[in-house]
Parts: sequence; structure tokens; C-alpha cells
Amino acid sequence: MAYETIIGLEIHAELNTESKMFCGCSTAFGGAPNSNTCPICLGHPGVLPVANEQAIADTILLGLALNCEITPRSVFHRKNYFYPDMPKNFQISQYDIPLTRSGLLEIEMDGYTRRVGITRVHLEEDTGKSIHIGESGRIHGADFSLEDFNRAGIPLAEIVTEPDLRSPDEARTFMQLLRATLEYLEISDCKMEEGSLRCDANISVSVDGEMGTKVEIKNMNSFRSLSRALTYEEERQRFALDQGETLVQETRHWDDAAGITHPLRSKEEAFDYRYFPEPDLVPIEPDQAWVEDLRGRLPELPAERQRRFREQYGLSSEIAAMLTGEKALADYFERAVETGQHPVELAKWIAGDLFALLKEAVVPIQACPLHPRGLGELVALVAQKIISGKMAKDVLKEAFDTGKGPKEIVEKKGLLQIADEGELASVVDEVIADNPDAAGDLREGKEQALKFLMGQVMKKTRGKANPEMASDLIRKKLSG
Ligand SMILES: [Zn+2]
Repeated sequence: MAYETIIGLEIHAELNTESKMFCGCSTAFGGAPNSNTCPICLGHPGVLPVANEQAIADTILLGLALNCEITPRSVFHRKNYFYPDMPKNFQISQYDIPLTRSGLLEIEMDGYTRRVGITRVHLEEDTGKSIHIGESGRIHGADFSLEDFNRAGIPLAEIVTEPDLRSPDEARTFMQLLRATLEYLEISDCKMEEGSLRCDANISVSVDGEMGTKVEIKNMNSFRSLSRALTYEEERQRFALDQGETLVQETRHWDDAAGITHPLRSKEEAFDYRYFPEPDLVPIEPDQAWVEDLRGRLPELPAERQRRFREQYGLSSEIAAMLTGEKALADYFERAVETGQHPVELAKWIAGDLFALLKEAVVPIQACPLHPRGLGELVALVAQKIISGKMAKDVLKEAFDTGKGPKEIVEKKGLLQIADEGELASVVDEVIADNPDAAGDLREGKEQALKFLMGQVMKKTRGKANPEMASDLIRKKLSG
């Protein structure tokens, strides 16, 4: 049987506006519980919401970045359900007419491009947060629950994709590009671990082109758990189909520690939200001039920048995607390119050793102790054969730790490679004179003798001989 995996994503991004969606409360993270609340976001009777203009502008901007059409007239709806973290017992969201819809975002995979349709991007408000205390098991495994409404009413953009993704890998790449797009637009903090960016997925496996049964996965809090959860679920469904089992349409919860998904609720238990238009808010009718003004404010987006990095600098898809995944990282790279060094070499150093150092020290690229000019210096030292690639790794580490320039480090430590032919030639002469047997072997064409002689040259120069030049000299002296 021919299986095909079909994945669609539903992403929630908290917008980083100063105030909440329908009141003037602060959106700051980490305040004392319930300190950022008022009668509106606490759902007191008789209060009136007022829509946050910045949140609408941010959502339109996101829609434009995702090639969506901006709906000329959209409305807010009430989504009714009871849950302790929802003081009003309804969430103000959008239903049949979202703010923007019918978009497209393309991702570059290894050797092909995947076009991913964007069904809609709409605007809604976040819920509060339940904190479960104790372990008696009376409620959600706890003794009791406390409610913090600081998050209630924070604007959320919901992005829904078409079921166009075909593998967990594609889903992860899409999510990374979307995260980068939100970051470039500067409209969200995009922290998956803190919950300001959340992703649910619908996944099914079709058999010989026949539609499969759709399963929704929740609780994936990192890029890694997104691909792990989808890989697990893809295998679970294929295995069940192989066994002749029937899959049920349900919502499943990803358990990151156990590495499995388990059922949360089936379709029969699905909520009926009784949507109806929010009577306290006017429809949104963005005028054309405002939309065009927002369009004019779109920066170069990561998808475009990726393409440009491939074409202009000759970078591979993988490295271009990595460097453009964060705006500051891409900026760092382009500042290093201004030093005139080879872009591919610079990109390799950034994506390899420098990235590892940043990660280990938990330092963002904005605070990188090595200036892009310093990286240019390092690549120049290697290109001019003043230091070897191996030495360069140590120099980079020291530059990173001390903030000193690579050139200064190399000069102070006397690390300069011996690339002076006269100086190296006399060392080679000594080595040949001290090792007549090995020299004789190489004359007779025994190649392994070269390795031995090179080792002796390196020993004498304490590793500072330019290896290419040294081996050329040995050969030249022994062939004539
Ligand atoms: Zn409020």
C-alpha cells in the first residue's frame, strides 16, 4: 500500500502590543498574579471592549507577509465555552470572516519547494492561566487550582494552514520559517518555551490516495517536540493501518517525556461553541490606504532573504535557511561579508563554530563578543595561510572568550604559521638529514614515509609549519 502523510498546522502567536486586545491593561510577562487586570479583561457585567488598533495592524501586516488577501469587512464573534481560565465564559475570536485569508508561504526543502496554502490569519484574545497546586488528584491531578488572568485578553494571531505539508520535516521547516517571519515583522516574541508561540497539528495518513482519518495533536512546545510528535503519530497511524485497524478521529496529547501521544478527547466529545457575532464591537473595515501603508512597511522577509543569500552569495539552502532564521544572525553575516572575505567561508564559520560557541554560552548573536569585522579578520588569516584552519578554531574560541581581535591574538601568541619558504626549507633539510631511512623510502615511492617526515617537521616547528608548503618542500628535495 502507498501511504502519504498529510499535515496541516494551527499556530497561535501572542502579539507584542503594549496593551491587551480589548482593554488598556499591560501585556508585560512575569508580573504578580492578577496585577495586569481590569473589569474588562475580568469579564465584569456591563463593561465594553474596545479593539486594539495596533493588534489589527500587526495581523494585517502578518497577512500581507503571508500573501493573504485582506478582508474588506471582518467581524468578531463570541466563542462560548466554560473554563475557569476564561472569566467571561466566552472568548472573543473570529469565525466565518477572518481579517485575512487565502495566502501562501513556500518552504525550501532538500531539492524541492513546497507551497503551503494559508487558509486564514485571524485575531482573538488569549485566556488566563490555571496553576494547579498539590497532588491529591481532586482536580487535574491536583488539590486545587489558582487562576492568573494577566494573560487573559492578550492579542493572539491564529494562523491556519491548508493540509499541504507531507512530512514532519516539512512541518518543522514551515514552523521555523513562520517563526522567522513573525520575528522579522517584530510583532511577536515568538518564544515557544514561554508559550508566546504555540502550534497544534492535524495529521492523517492516506492510503493509495484515499483520505485518512484526521487526528489533532496538542501540546508541542518546541520545534523538536513538533517533529518528534508528528514522527511518532505518523508511525502510529501507519502501524495501525498495517494491522487492519480503524483509526478514530480524535484529539491527542503529546507527552514529551514519554515520547508518545495519548487520546485527549474523541470527535463525539467535541465542543459546540455556539458562535455568534460580538454585539459590543463594530466590524473591522480597514481602508485601502492604511493597508497599502502597511504593505509599504514590510521588511525584506526571511523567505526572500533566503533566496537572495543563495543567489547572491552562493550559499546552500540549508545554510541560507539557518542564517536567515534569525534577523540579527543574517545581519551579522552581511556585516561580515562587508569585510570582503569569501561569503561561503564566513557563512561556514558562523553556522559552525561561532553558532556552537553562542549556544554553549547561551549568548544571543546581538551580544556576540566577536564583531563581524573580527570574523572577517579570522577568515582572512586562514585565506592568507597565516594560520591553519585548526589554529583558527582555537583563535575563534579565544576571541569569543576575551573579546580580543583574532589578529591581535595571533600576533601576541606567536601563532603565525611558518609560511616562509627559506625558514621552512632549512627545517626540512634537518629532518631529511636526521631520518635517512624514511627519506630513502619516500625516494622509492613509499608514500607512508611522507607522513612520518611531515610529523617530524611539525614536531620541530611545534605545529606551526604550513602543511601544504612543508609537504611540497619534502617532495621537491627528495625527487631531485
Ligand atoms: Zn484589562
